[in-house]
Amino acid sequence: MSNIIIIGAGASGLMCAVQLLKSGHRVTLIEKNEKCGKKLFITGKGRCNLTNYSDVEEHLSSIQSNKKFMYSALNAFTPYDTVDFFNSLGLRTKVERGSRVFPESDHSSDVIKVLCNELKKGGADLRLNTAVSRLLIRGGEDPEITGVLLSKGEKIYSDRVVVATGGRSYPSTGSTGDGYRFAVSAGMDVKAQSPSLVPLNSPDRDVRSLQGLSLRNVSIVLKDGKKKLYSDFGELLFTHFGVSGPVILSASAAVKPEFFERPLELHIDLKSVVSIEELDKRLIRIFDENRNKEFKNSLSSLFPSKLIPVMAERSGIKSFTKCADIRKDERRDFAALIKDFRVNIEGLRGFDEAVITKGGVSVKEIDPSSMESKKVKGLYFIGEVLDIDSMTGGFNLQLAWSTAAAAARHIPAGH
Ligand SMILES: Cc1cc2nc3c(=O)[nH]c(=O)nc-3n(C[C@H](O)[C@H](O)[C@H](O)COP(=O)(O)OP(=O)(O)OC[C@H]3O[C@@H](n4cnc5c(N)ncnc54)[C@H](O)[C@@H]3O)c2cc1C
Repeated sequence: MSNIIIIGAGASGLMCAVQLLKSGHRVTLIEKNEKCGKKLFITGKGRCNLTNYSDVEEHLSSIQSNKKFMYSALNAFTPYDTVDFFNSLGLRTKVERGSRVFPESDHSSDVIKVLCNELKKGGADLRLNTAVSRLLIRGGEDPEITGVLLSKGEKIYSDRVVVATGGRSYPSTGSTGDGYRFAVSAGMDVKAQSPSLVPLNSPDRDVRSLQGLSLRNVSIVLKDGKKKLYSDFGELLFTHFGVSGPVILSASAAVKPEFFERPLELHIDLKSVVSIEELDKRLIRIFDENRNKEFKNSLSSLFPSKLIPVMAERSGIKSFTKCADIRKDERRDFAALIKDFRVNIEGLRGFDEAVITKGGVSVKEIDPSSMESKKVKGLYFIGEVLDIDSMTGGFNLQLAWSTAAAAARHIPAGH
């Protein structure tokens, strides 16, 4: 049986290696880091949200780019198969809020450990501290892969090479975009990449002054002029550069990257569970109870302390105005401000802070059931290097597992 080369011992490379070893293949797994799964280690804040315990339809609807491409691979290796697979390796799992699956131990290191145990058991040739610098391809009418060239100069030959090099996000974990270069060298189309599931920049000084403040239960609408691009409800975090938190990360993934090249406006409803009329009644009560207090000193029941000076400033009501002297129109405008706190948005943060990469190897170049390149025989692309991406909640790792399983399944036993 010939040796299968896998480039990258991240989520997809490890899964592919284990599946291939289980069906009796020999595997050489090449990883430029000193250890396997550096990114896996930091997933889910160190707990690894390894999939989402929901059906394939749910996973397909979470995918933001090229859902159709994933239909076959996700159906052939479902989220339930992922859980069964890890359980069969001895990893106990649990399901949390939003159907997120975690190791029972809450340690991502246990996910890596069970995969690495299988590598050892199966006798994989694991080459750490070893980078692939390019693919070896026999050209001609029907190009074929013949192996890889290592940056140390050594050539390793195989007629099956799996590229599992990840995207560009968190490059410190090893994913520096090498796979895109490999695809281009194979004559394949690679879509432009942009950071996704990433915070947003704001030029607004007062917004930046809110750094560290986290707001739950807010509604947001991201707009380009009058055009509504995205709306959501949940938690938002102010930072020293702008805004972050779950609703913002989701917005960054759901909106096409080109929109972020223009100035956008984020509208935050700070009291989304009450109507503007109810809010106005509440303000009447608050100002009445605090008749002799200054406006800015009457707001502690409405906002966290960090937000008070910003709201007072934006209200236009002079901060020393006594509550009894606040006019009806001022009060109504203030209610409107609370229901529509605006933040100017100036682009996405960078790859260093992005959970995933949008763009990558064009799926038009890839067979969706096997992940094999349509241009070069024996060359496979799996995981984040592909132009597929999904939302938070375990959906992105499922893309890595399912594409890895597809490639492993396709490489015939006895090859
Ligand atoms: C902070 C953070 C938290 C996340 N949390 C979650 C989560 O909880 N749930 C979820 O579903 N997703 C999560 N993700 C996304 C998920 O981690 C990725 O989608 C997934 O790891 C992609 O797997 P991959 O195998 O394609 O790439 P990676 O896991 O990035 O692995 C690629 C590997 O290839 C190696 N490599 C690259 N180039 C070469 C080369 N030339 N030679 C040799 N080796 C090379 C790299 O060193 C790396 O080890 C998170 C991402 C981040 C950044």
